[in-house]
Amino acid sequence: MAVDIPALRGALVEIPGTLADDPPREPVWISQADPTLIFPARNPTILDSLPDNRPTRVSAAQDVRESERIAADVRSSGIEAIAWYRSFRVRSLPWGIFIRADGLVRSFEQMFDGLAAPRSIKLELALNAVLSHELAHFYVDTAIAQFELLSLRALWLPRKLGFAHAGSYDVYEEVIANASMLRAVRDLHGPLRISGRERLLREWTRRQPSGYSIGYRYTAAHRFDHALNRHGASYLAPRTRSAAARKHILLAPLIRAPMSAAAAVVPLYIVTSSSSSRFGDIGLFPALRIVAETPGFKKQLRKSPEQMQRAYAELRTRLMARSPTSGDRLKRWPPLGAETWSLRLNRGDRLHVRHLAGMDFEAVAIGSHAELGHD
Ligand SMILES: [Zn+2]
Repeated sequence: MAVDIPALRGALVEIPGTLADDPPREPVWISQADPTLIFPARNPTILDSLPDNRPTRVSAAQDVRESERIAADVRSSGIEAIAWYRSFRVRSLPWGIFIRADGLVRSFEQMFDGLAAPRSIKLELALNAVLSHELAHFYVDTAIAQFELLSLRALWLPRKLGFAHAGSYDVYEEVIANASMLRAVRDLHGPLRISGRERLLREWTRRQPSGYSIGYRYTAAHRFDHALNRHGASYLAPRTRSAAARKHILLAPLIRAPMSAAAAVVPLYIVTSSSSSRFGDIGLFPALRIVAETPGFKKQLRKSPEQMQRAYAELRTRLMARSPTSGDRLKRWPPLGAETWSLRLNRGDRLHVRHLAGMDFEAVAIGSHAELGHD
């Protein structure tokens, strides 16, 4: 599906009520996910770097509690507890698919509990599943946008805001999104095509809230198409009762488009939280680029020992090539502001960087533990 989103958005501007100043309900998750950093993840295949059978860093009770909390979130909010779609209709903030790194990392073994496969495969399956679910929301959004252009009236936002005001959600769209997810996982090829994957994922969805929990009933081709078209029609109803109009709301061909086609169109973001940096070494996070240095930093660097200068140059090069690992001790450094992070250079020395945008960071300070105020 070749959808030109900027062009679509540009056309929607002409139709009152199609674009949102205030985000509809879904983006509430952005604040819940503590997006201290939102990285654009252009290449989720780096998940391959997860070595098999690596012992998990289970720091006992706290870790178990955290996993239980996320499992409970999924039971009460469905898959949107770990990932969500943010419409291109929102005027501010980025649009796209957002995935909570900690949510995915703590859910993938529950999603495919008992599957005879290495953890790296389960994680990749989980990523595929989550993306398929969220892409279904994207497909519905773009399909409805096209009907808005044809009918010259707002359809998508009024419906979403209606649910938001009622403190509810679009139950039927979640049926479709989970059905779409199960179909995508069923149709996988290659190393991800492991016996039992669809059945286990189905069991996982059945513990989810209304709508999510019955998606599995609509995975057969004819039932899926029927559900899609009924959902499309529901955007027009109750204003349009005519059967002829309903026939024209055919979402099915749009939603069946391959995931790879949409992956090039929809920006994908991995949302990290301050507590998830310990997962850095699974390779989920893309590279962190140090693209600038403050004048103060340059002065500090010139005066610092040669060994520290070398460590800085090495770290900078390494981060360009791959994600931060737990050895880099990436953590927030609030004394210098919410956007500032600390990185380990070597045993005694640290580097402070400030987040600029996307993957880009600016070096702001370098020095020993004590010089930078670490204990
Ligand atoms: Zn959903």
